[in-house]
Amino acid sequence: MSSTWHILGAGSLGSLWACRLARAGKAVRLILRDGQRLQAYQQAGGLTLVEQDQTRRYAIPAETAQAQGPIHRLLVACKAYDAAPAIAGVAPRLAESAEVLLLQNGLGSQDEVADLVPHARCIFASSTEGAFREGDWQVRFAGHGFNWLGDPRNPMIPAWFDDLHEAGIPAEWTVDILTRLWRKLALNCAINPLTVLHDCQNGGLLGHLGEVQALCVELARLLRRCGQPQAAEGLEEEVQRVILATAANYSSMYQDVHAGRRTELHYLLGHACRAAGRHGLQLPQLEHLLQRLVENLRARGLPCD
Ligand code: NAP
Repeated sequence: MSSTWHILGAGSLGSLWACRLARAGKAVRLILRDGQRLQAYQQAGGLTLVEQDQTRRYAIPAETAQAQGPIHRLLVACKAYDAAPAIAGVAPRLAESAEVLLLQNGLGSQDEVADLVPHARCIFASSTEGAFREGDWQVRFAGHGFNWLGDPRNPMIPAWFDDLHEAGIPAEWTVDILTRLWRKLALNCAINPLTVLHDCQNGGLLGHLGEVQALCVELARLLRRCGQPQAAEGLEEEVQRVILATAANYSSMYQDVHAGRRTELHYLLGHACRAAGRHGLQLPQLEHLLQRLVENLRARGLPCD
């Protein structure tokens, strides 16, 4: 079986993973959106990773989804709303026992992908690392963090897991990946939409703690109803800790909105509200939050799904 890491999506996180794996001598191939993007990439001569004051370019080979050859190991590094359409393009190339590692934030996109590639093993990741694009094909490693990986259907650690340690990618295998993803989703729901609505940094929510608290109560009820009681434990305290620790930061949703980019709302607050609906749970604060956010995005001319 080939040990090449195919990386679908050479944006912020995809490039960060690609450069570290390539630096450690692992075989890496990028899969880019189309021929035009491939040509632009080839003209740039590779991916550039900026880390503290070090800048280094990696001439990682790239192709489009239409290239030939089976894919045994695929890292999907698109936004949540792009993951399923992107995987559809490479699905015919996925080998019978292929492993697909999904880096998407939130919940829902993982199942959309898994439905499209039932023959592959889908591994979910929850990342607290931070990276952003300084320009096309140039990424800054902005925040050290950690990656939890797991497969809700199969607790066996993948054979390639040590590649991550060898590449300096901090990671741990967990059998509770869904708990981690739900907890992160809940933290996001309690903080990010409010920063957009109140037009503030995370610390600005210290002036709206009543609203935050009411959301946490509903989110904890939802987590328990979804069979995730551990993700509900101490949620409100953690939300307050995150608000204090990141008081000067702008949330990812705030940054997306202010850059005129589509948000991942559908896979975050949208997912929470849909899950509540499926369980017949009335969560008026969360539903009102979603409604206000959708109106806000619509008024800005941004996609609201
Ligand atoms: P990003 O910088 O926008 O990168 C996404 C990449 O996907 C882009 O390069 C885009 O291509 C590519 N793409 C989209 N459709 C494609 C297709 N059909 N074929 C090939 N490539 C395709 O996004 P990101 O910030 O890395 O985020 C990726 C995921 O990681 C998100 O769910 C995010 O929430 C999560 N995450 C990000 C961070 C972070 O610090 N960035 C941290 C934790 C979690 P183009 O370049 O052609 O547009």
